[in-house]
Amino acid sequence: MKAVQIVKPQQMILAELPEPQGCGAHEVKIRVKAAGICGSDIQIYRGTNPFAVYPRVIGHEFCGVVEETGEAVTRVSKGDHVAIDPVVSCGNCRACRSGRHNVCEKLEVIGVHRDGGFCDYIVLPEKNVYRADPSIPFDLLATAEPFSIGAQICWRGQVSQGDTVLIMGCGPIGLCTLQIARLRGARVIITDLLEERLERARDCGAEGTILISGGNLEPELDRLTDGEGPTVVIDTVCSPSSLEQAFRVSRPAGRVVVIGLTEKTSQIAQVDFTKKELTVTGSRLNRHQFGDVIRWMEEGKLCPEKLRSHVFPAQDAEKAFQLIQERPQEVCKVVLAF
Ligand code: MN
Repeated sequence: MKAVQIVKPQQMILAELPEPQGCGAHEVKIRVKAAGICGSDIQIYRGTNPFAVYPRVIGHEFCGVVEETGEAVTRVSKGDHVAIDPVVSCGNCRACRSGRHNVCEKLEVIGVHRDGGFCDYIVLPEKNVYRADPSIPFDLLATAEPFSIGAQICWRGQVSQGDTVLIMGCGPIGLCTLQIARLRGARVIITDLLEERLERARDCGAEGTILISGGNLEPELDRLTDGEGPTVVIDTVCSPSSLEQAFRVSRPAGRVVVIGLTEKTSQIAQVDFTKKELTVTGSRLNRHQFGDVIRWMEEGKLCPEKLRSHVFPAQDAEKAFQLIQERPQEVCKVVLAF
């Protein structure tokens, strides 16, 4: 079978690998049909992902058709269309025992810590596989994973009706979070450095957009919120300075959601937390969000087509990676077809 493999940083090959044979009792074999390219795939390619081990078949945003099931499998049957939750947890550690398996102490992400979905066939635990209505095209079903990140962020930030949410950054995660925050009844203001990306956000339902230049974030936010400020700030830019801004612009008693994985420090003083009595919360991957996300897709409540900007055949993966790196104004979610 073919697989997109990163042999070592900066070296991607279309590998010919043996097709996995058979499934364990609780495993499912999947014929992969589509897989989205994520910023973290680009990082593994560039050699800047701290979790990556090489060689690696990447890809954690994927979907396909069930080819074979183990004898104890009950969740899906042969021929079902499925999306894959890439979070693999141990089930025994403190996090897993408290129901928060997405921060498992032995956490593995399919496509990062172990070989992923940029290949024709993969065998996975039954519990990572979610059935979806076959009316959802595969290139859209592949966005279930980034939507699960958005759902987790909104859950962690307790986004609800009456909230004014500021989302910093219009990348795929910003747009997924935007759509789910809107679904939860919030008003959303979103920022970016590129007008083309703000246009896409308006199309996804953003009520306010701010093209960042110089120090205009705070005055523009004041203008758009009548000086009230956002009740929730979600930082998808994840730079040291964006987190500092998130603290600065949050309303008193506001909530700040942090998703970055950088080890670089931000300059935040204790008084920045205390004075406004902020609730600051991390959000990582997703915790049982696939069921809701797929149901919302089936009900037409999400617009994955507004995210998916390009589809490439899998053998053109390198071209797709180049496009993402060179043309950020045109690109949102790029999907590989298998
Ligand atoms: Mn991703």
